[in-house]
Amino acid sequence: MSQENSFGWGLIGASTIAAEHMIAALRAQPGHEVVAVASSSAERARAYAERHGIAAAYGSVAALLADPAVQAVYISTTNELHHDQVLAAAAAGKQVLCEKPLALNLADALAMVKACRDAGVLMATNHHLRNAATHRKIRDLVQAGVIGKPLFARVFHAVFLPPHLQGWRIDKPQAGGGVILDITVHDADTLRFILDAEPVEAVGLSQSTSMASQGLEDGVMAVLRFDNGTLAQLHDAFTVKHGGTGIEIHGETGSIVGRNVMTQQPVGEVLLRTAAGEQGVPVEHESLYARSVAAFCAALRGEGAPAATAEDGVRSLATALAVAEACRDGRAVRIANPFA
Ligand code: NDP
Repeated sequence: MSQENSFGWGLIGASTIAAEHMIAALRAQPGHEVVAVASSSAERARAYAERHGIAAAYGSVAALLADPAVQAVYISTTNELHHDQVLAAAAAGKQVLCEKPLALNLADALAMVKACRDAGVLMATNHHLRNAATHRKIRDLVQAGVIGKPLFARVFHAVFLPPHLQGWRIDKPQAGGGVILDITVHDADTLRFILDAEPVEAVGLSQSTSMASQGLEDGVMAVLRFDNGTLAQLHDAFTVKHGGTGIEIHGETGSIVGRNVMTQQPVGEVLLRTAAGEQGVPVEHESLYARSVAAFCAALRGEGAPAATAEDGVRSLATALAVAEACRDGRAVRIANPFA
């Protein structure tokens, strides 16, 4: 059997995101199979493997990495664990698709990128939103100059964190909880993708109201300045039940409105407003996660780059960390290029 027909993935983390989206996305790639799962609890790994038809279950990351059937790992543990697990995977020569936020600080994220580069393995970040047909269409319109020079963006990503996800995100600072590392990091990545520009400055105010504790924030409003001059306003929350989501890009000659687009589902609509009036822009929806994995697999074959590279993960994390610092210290925070 050729490698194309027998590519084995190991899951590091018996997680919800893998169960709800990523196992199916990995299996959607021809010849790819999820062959193993590792949990910190051997019993949970076994139950998870049984539930999802996964051949091998391990009670440690080291045991999974020693399995020769595992060629690539998908890391979706809590955020403080990503760093050590990526380093271990790289040392074992496994290809790495890691969840966002890559780490809790920039030094760790940069070390992860370096470890994978030094080991000669591919590393990518699972920022799903830039795989959405809606966001790709919005990027195409902006980059084609359809709305002229972009001046402003607004992101509406205040949602209600469903009860089954109200664990470490709302009460474990040491696990990288809080809405900024969970949601703002996605906004940053999506705006970087659409605008093809980098954030250089952040201001913000956060709140901790009805859900989060232990000093974690469950809502934030922030403004980013991009290096092309665009100002972007972000509104992210775990506590808003009926807000709806969206994104708007306002340029000198037109505006683009994405409705119901800050979501894991392949849904939403794109509207273009110019002097000619308002028109709906057709999009062909597809699974965001399957597309993310497909791009990673193509990159492994030497065809193009992953949808969100490891470097994208670092830069989007740098932006989220700057927003967190701006909220904490009550001042504008410069965002330097972490790779400079
Ligand atoms: P989960 O809470 O479902 O899983 C994280 C870890 O929690 C698992 O690795 C597991 O540890 C442990 N865990 C899970 N269920 C239980 C349980 N019943 N009892 C005890 N421990 C349990 O997190 P998510 O799936 O929501 O998020 C995981 C990662 O994925 C995070 O980094 C998050 O930011 C990211 N994410 C990304 C999304 C995207 O769209 N890109 C969407 C959602 C999450 P163990 O492995 O040791 O069993």
